[in-house]
Parts: sequence; structure tokens; C-alpha cells
Amino acid sequence: MFSFSKQTIKEMADHCIAENPNEACGIILGKTLLDQFKDICVNKFSIDYKDILFNSHLVDDLKLTHSNIKEILTTLTNTETQINVLDDQNLATVSASIEFVCQNGGGDIAISIVKITNTAKSPYRYQMDPQEFLDADKKADQLGLSIVGFYHSHTHSAAYPSDTDVRLAIESGWTDPYYILISLEDMDAPVVRMYQINLDESVIEKNYSLNGNPANLY
Ligand SMILES: [Zn+2]
Repeated sequence: MFSFSKQTIKEMADHCIAENPNEACGIILGKTLLDQFKDICVNKFSIDYKDILFNSHLVDDLKLTHSNIKEILTTLTNTETQINVLDDQNLATVSASIEFVCQNGGGDIAISIVKITNTAKSPYRYQMDPQEFLDADKKADQLGLSIVGFYHSHTHSAAYPSDTDVRLAIESGWTDPYYILISLEDMDAPVVRMYQINLDESVIEKNYSLNGNPANLY
């Protein structure tokens, strides 16, 4: 499950309140599961970062032992789940392992936010300043982080992506990161919800956790 710190949520909400009545927008930097998988391989097992590809075979390509693999999966799922690595061919590659971790409680981690100027300066829509966006993308690279989400506020409507939000997400090609919507309909209690926007225009709400605890979204 995607996880936020309470501080990150607060920083996003504060930014949205500061820009009210106009919509605020920004980027969430963090570690994807692939980033986390790579970090462990590099730091614990001295594997070269560039050798770790999505389709790398854990044993044949990365030379990981079954005990190494179990350690990685246990760390990423944060559980002592009995993982029968030896028998489970489903865990043969990096992508299969990440899928397994995703289904067993692991997820992207939000680390920090980058506030971006809404050049539309409008209560009804947002347009991220393109130069600030590029700078943030570069900064992510330098810090070894990825863009794991985008956030923006709805100052007069619910925390749900509008048709325009869905269209822009698809047109921009950025459908891997999550979209976080912050509604200021009730200024005293901003509502923060997270969505996956797919190429087929479907919108799926995703749960997230705060400091490891499931967040109450409602
Ligand atoms: Zn919107």
C-alpha cells in the first residue's frame, strides 16, 4: 500500500489552503517499489544498480540466493510471511517479485513534495509551470527518487478527478504515478483521496497508509 507521512499530507493541505481560492498543484517524490528493491540489492548485496532491470532473473542474472530473495521480500512486505521462494516460480524475476510485494502489503513511499506554480491561476483548473516541472523531475533523479504522485486541490468540488483531470493525465502520458485530490469544500477538514488513472479512462480509488497505519479516508 502507498504510504505517506502525516507531515507530507499536512504540507500538501497547507499548500492548497494557501493558494485558495485558486487551485494548487504539485509533485510527490518518493520511492517506487522498484526503487526500494534496487536499494536493497545495491546496499545489502552489492549488486550494480544498472544491472537490475524489470525482467532480470533473480538467481540467474542477479546471482541472488534464495535466502537473499527471502530477505528482500520480507523487508519490502514488512512481514514475516512464509515465503517459499524455492518452490515459487512466480518470484523468478524482479517484476514478479514486485508484483508479489504489492499484493502483500508493500507499496510506493512518498518522501517529499515539490510545490509547483499553477500558471492558470484559476479556481477551476490547473496548469503546472513547465520549467518548475522539469526542475523537479531533475531534482528527483539527483536524489535517487521518482515522481510517485501528483496532487492538486478542488476548491469547490469533491476530491475526485474531473473529466479534464482524466484527459490531461492520459494526454501527458503520466499514468504510472498516483493522482491525489484534495478537496477544500470544508476548509476545516480537507479531504485527501488518491486515484489511479488508467489509459482506458477508468479511475480507481486507492487506499494509502499513514506511518504504516491504514488511513481513514472518510
Ligand atoms: Zn481537478
